[in-house]
Amino acid sequence: MEIHIDQLNKVYNKDFYALKDVSLSIGNGMFGLLGPNGAGKSTLMRILVTLMKPTSGKITVDGKNIHKHRKEIRKMIGYLPQDFRFFSKLKTWEFLDYSAALSGMTNNKQRKEAVDQMLEDVGLFDARDRQAGKLSGGMKRRLGIAQALINDPKLIVVDEPTTGLDPDERIRFRNLLSKISGEERVIILSTHIVADISSTCNQMALLSQGEVAFQGTPEDITEKARGSVWKVILTTRELEKVKEEYPVISTVMMEKGWEVILVADDLQGYPGEKIEPDLEHAYVYFMDKELNEFMVSEY
Ligand code: ADP
Repeated sequence: MEIHIDQLNKVYNKDFYALKDVSLSIGNGMFGLLGPNGAGKSTLMRILVTLMKPTSGKITVDGKNIHKHRKEIRKMIGYLPQDFRFFSKLKTWEFLDYSAALSGMTNNKQRKEAVDQMLEDVGLFDARDRQAGKLSGGMKRRLGIAQALINDPKLIVVDEPTTGLDPDERIRFRNLLSKISGEERVIILSTHIVADISSTCNQMALLSQGEVAFQGTPEDITEKARGSVWKVILTTRELEKVKEEYPVISTVMMEKGWEVILVADDLQGYPGEKIEPDLEHAYVYFMDKELNEFMVSEY
């Protein structure tokens, strides 16, 4: 499957551009859309699943304009929205059975088999008789992905699925996404958590203030930050000063002072060494550049 997003704009309240000239190409596998809160990720996801229309621009899936072929496209899509919450009194299996029936699975026997298999796949089989509304946060999220997957969609869109999960559940959820991704389908994962992407995605884009700041592989983006990530040992006073000048990624108190990781094109006046960048470093590097460009262009 090939998805092409072409010069998409979305304007809210007459003049606020939540998306600005967004163009992306997405192929089979797992695609990560990374950006801070407010970057426009949910807006893009909602347009992609045809719940909302763009102000201008178009999206095609295998050459078909999604808004012209809405019905057909919707059948291919499984969607887990950011605010997937429910207070269902139905049992877990009943909820999934209901979702399956809604998605057009009318054959009772086939549906029951599909529901049991899916409960097994997402690790909820033992909880199948529990009231869905009373499952833990992580289990609800897994039930959410189960309802998105039940009719075997070719395009799966998950919007901020790990927000609010504890670390165990977060890792479990990532593993589940990796397991369901394959050669035959596209999974689009939107998140503001770098680790969600570095552990699962083979393609990614960075979204910042409605614009694509980068598209490529996680390795490509990490490479861009090479030479700009530093490790320095500082006194508390130096640290305060450095924080005003550069984006600081981490600080650890050591015997010899603060060990600080920061991003800077050139670090003058401090004894530091350049270190191997990772995706987290690269994310901070790009976001800082965007922010600076934004400040320059606005003022
Ligand atoms: P993200 O998912 O990356 O947090 P969103 O797509 O939710 O970003 O929001 C992008 C921007 O658009 C934010 O500034 C948000 O406040 C604004 N926004 C989102 N939805 C609406 C709406 N329905 N009306 C007006 N502004 C909106």
